[in-house]
Amino acid sequence: MVHPKSSDPMAEDTVKRFLSNSHDAIDAADQDLRALNKAIHDNPELGYQEFYAVETISSFLQKRGYAVTKQAYGLETSFMAEIGSGGSLVIICVEYDALPNIGHACGHNLITTSSMAAFLGAAKVLQSESFPGRIRILGTPAEEGGGGKVKLIEAGAFDEDIAAAIMAHPLAAHQFAEGYDGLAGLKFIASQKFEVEFRGQSAHAAGEPWNGVNALDAAVMAYNGISMLRQQMRPDERVHGVINDGGTAPNVIANYTRMTWIVRSPSTKRSEALLKKVQQSFNAAALSTGCEYDIIPCVSSVVCDILVQ
Ligand SMILES: [Zn+2]
Repeated sequence: MVHPKSSDPMAEDTVKRFLSNSHDAIDAADQDLRALNKAIHDNPELGYQEFYAVETISSFLQKRGYAVTKQAYGLETSFMAEIGSGGSLVIICVEYDALPNIGHACGHNLITTSSMAAFLGAAKVLQSESFPGRIRILGTPAEEGGGGKVKLIEAGAFDEDIAAAIMAHPLAAHQFAEGYDGLAGLKFIASQKFEVEFRGQSAHAAGEPWNGVNALDAAVMAYNGISMLRQQMRPDERVHGVINDGGTAPNVIANYTRMTWIVRSPSTKRSEALLKKVQQSFNAAALSTGCEYDIIPCVSSVVCDILVQ
C-alpha cells in the first residue's frame, strides 16, 4: 500500500504514529474480527431481517466499551455507535445483508469486518491523541436491492455536516490492476433495477394454441434480444436479468410472464442511454408476439452518479 508523502517530516512522523497505533488496535482484535466475519458469513440474513447480524455486531462493540444505539433512524435493523467530540464527523458504514439462496455471495460479511476494523483502528487514534473529531459507525441494512442507505438518507442520517462517509466493498481480484490492493470506486456504479411484465392470452397449447398470445415467447425473445445487444455494449456496462415467472403449465400458453433486470453503467446518463436500447428488445418482443408489456421500476433501485476518490 502506498501512503501519500509529506514534505513535512513532523507531519510524516505523526501519520506514522497514527498508522502504527491503529494497526496495533486492529491486530489486537484479529481473532475476534475473524470470528465476527465467520459468524456473519455463516448466518446469512436478507435485507431488513438482519437481526442476528445487528445483535452480533452490537455485542462486539459493547464488549469493547462502545455504547450502541439500536434501530438507528427508525430502521429496525440499523444501529450506530460514536466516539470523540467536536471537530469533523466521519461516518463508517457497515453492511451485513445477504442474497437470497446463496448467502453472502456479495461479501457483505467482509464489509462488516473491514468497517469494524477501521472503526477500532481510528477509535484508538482518536482516544490516544488529543484532537477534536468524531467517528460514527452506522449500520446500513438491506443493501441488496432494499435501498437501506436511501431510507437512512431520507431519515436524516447524513444531514449533519459530515466530512466523509466511507466503507469498502470486496471485489473480484481481476477488477483492479496488478500490484494494487483495491480500487477507489467501482464502475457500473449507476444502476437501474426494474421488472418487466408481459401480458398475452392463455389457450390450451395442444387444443387451440392459435388462440393464444404467448407471454413466455415474449420474455424469451426479449432475453435473446438483450443477449445479442451485449456485443454492442461497452466493456464497462452490464445488463443482466432473470425470468421470475415463466408460466404455469406446459400445456397452457402463458398469458403472463415477469422478468427482473439490472442495467449498469459508470454514469446515470449512460445507464439511461443503455436502458433505452434494452427497452427496444421489450418493444420488439411485444410487437412480434402481440403481447402488452409494462416496465415497473423497483423501489429505491436507481443508484445515481456517486463521487469516488
Ligand atoms: Zn454488495
